[in-house]
Amino acid sequence: LLGKPLFSVLPDAEEYYKSLLEKVRLTGEPLHLYDSPYSLNVKGKCIEGYVHMVFQPYRDTQGKTLGIMGIHQDVTEAVKSRKKIEESEKRFQAAISAVEGIIWTNNANGEMEGEQPSWSKLTGQSYEEYQGYGWAKAVHPNDAQPTVDAWNNAVKNKRTFEFEHWLKTKQNDWRLFSVKAVPVFTETGIIIQWVGVHTDITEQREATQRIKESESRFRTLAQTLPQLIWMTDEKGTYEYASKRWIDYSGLDPAGEDSWKKLVHPDDIENLMQVWLSSLNTGKTYNAEVRLKNKVGAYRWHLVQGEPIKNDKGSIIKWIGAYTDIENLKKEQKQKDDFLATASHEFKTPVTTIKAYGQILERILEEKGDLHTLGMVKKIGTQVVRLTALIADLLDVSKMQKEGLIHIESVFNFDEFIKDVIDDTQKAIVTHQIIYNLNAGKKILGDKDKVGQMINNLISNATKYSPSSDKIIVSTQIVNDGVQLSIQDFGIGISTEVQENIFEQFYRVTGENQSNFQGMGIGLYICAEIIKREGGKIWVESTIDKGSIFYVWLPTEQKRKLNYDSSILTGVGNQLRKV
Ligand code: ADP
Repeated sequence: LLGKPLFSVLPDAEEYYKSLLEKVRLTGEPLHLYDSPYSLNVKGKCIEGYVHMVFQPYRDTQGKTLGIMGIHQDVTEAVKSRKKIEESEKRFQAAISAVEGIIWTNNANGEMEGEQPSWSKLTGQSYEEYQGYGWAKAVHPNDAQPTVDAWNNAVKNKRTFEFEHWLKTKQNDWRLFSVKAVPVFTETGIIIQWVGVHTDITEQREATQRIKESESRFRTLAQTLPQLIWMTDEKGTYEYASKRWIDYSGLDPAGEDSWKKLVHPDDIENLMQVWLSSLNTGKTYNAEVRLKNKVGAYRWHLVQGEPIKNDKGSIIKWIGAYTDIENLKKEQKQKDDFLATASHEFKTPVTTIKAYGQILERILEEKGDLHTLGMVKKIGTQVVRLTALIADLLDVSKMQKEGLIHIESVFNFDEFIKDVIDDTQKAIVTHQIIYNLNAGKKILGDKDKVGQMINNLISNATKYSPSSDKIIVSTQIVNDGVQLSIQDFGIGISTEVQENIFEQFYRVTGENQSNFQGMGIGLYICAEIIKREGGKIWVESTIDKGSIFYVWLPTEQKRKLNYDSSILTGVGNQLRKV
């Protein structure tokens, strides 16, 4: 190349460089061109980059320009890195404006600098107001100094800044914020700036506050109630026990399975079964247990537990109470004992009255004194009712003492029902019993008891439907069992009390009911019989339309199967007892 004119060697360059070189030659001043992009064709390959160019005139001693020295320095790498940083800065700024939160930057000394759009949007402070430490004026007077102190400390120690303070917003509202700011370092560990975020936590704080208040209300309530209150997590692990629990037991409730130490050994198995089943099914937990107090004496308690669910319906806790029912149990026993003795003692005089009544009836018949005979017959009818009531009462006390005496046999259900209905119909003049028997299966059970149950149900159906004249009795096969239904068209039973009517001495109250006599034990006896027969009893009823009482009993085969497996698994105590 040496010795040849520049533009004959680089003809492409002429257009661009000629005028520049002319300028340097004429002015005699050096020319700098920074970061000038170039594109070169090197051996058929296009190479792009940036150069820093200097065109420097050189002169003789008189100052006459002799020539121009050109220095080209390739600065491609440096320019590319700078451009990358600029792009990243742009992206960062775009991200800041896109994020909902309040993002701001402070310089390395902790002062706010430059435009802070998100900060001024939040606080309403103008550019001039927030510069330097002006931002602190938006902080609540009580929090301002502590914030500045903590901030200075973070800046001094180059540590992440975390704080909570109240800020006055543009809308003149005081709101609580959590603040976090982190320093941005150079490679050599020098802080370039701080980037911070303000997050509004006012609602969150209020919610926490509300939870705390509700928690404290719960605790006060739990301590005041006479019951022993407890709470567990969803798996049944201890979380809380009221002071009364500790006072009663003298045990540390957090101790491993400490509640098990309280429960009478004979009650523990049943309690565990009920509790585990509640944990599995999420159904209310209900049981009666004897709990040991701190002096070692047992008292009967009713334990009840309710699951607490979250919005999605999953159980998050169990909360419950132990209620002392020792006195109630004692009274119940006294009442049962009294009933047992009284009904037993009533039996003999009533039987005697009945016998003499019958003799009297015969004498009066012979004498032809029809008027007196009518009165004695009325006494007779009432004595029969009295005998039935006493028999019911005796049944109840017997059931409580040793369970019903159970004499089992296999019999055809439909045929048996038909016999019972035909017998009952003879004594009922007000209603016609229509039957519709389609079970066609044999069952294994106590005929007398099943008969007694059907009689009770039919007698209720007639008693509670004085304005109607028919009762429909049907049977059919349902789920390996026979299902009997007894339908009346009487006064009906409201939904709320339908569950209670099977309880001992429960009678529905109300204007409608006062006309009907009874003791509230008929259905209780039915339910006890059905329990021992391994079946189910329930009711469907509508006020003023009537009721259908359903009874379901396992068929002969099903009953045998259950009976055998219950012996095998050891849960057939009830059955074996009867
Ligand atoms: P009792 O009839 O002696 O009161 P039960 O135990 O037989 O006692 O019945 C309990 C309660 O259930 C009754 O008091 C009555 O209110 C209600 N009940 C039972 N059977 C019927 C029925 N078929 N229709 C309406 N109510 C009924």
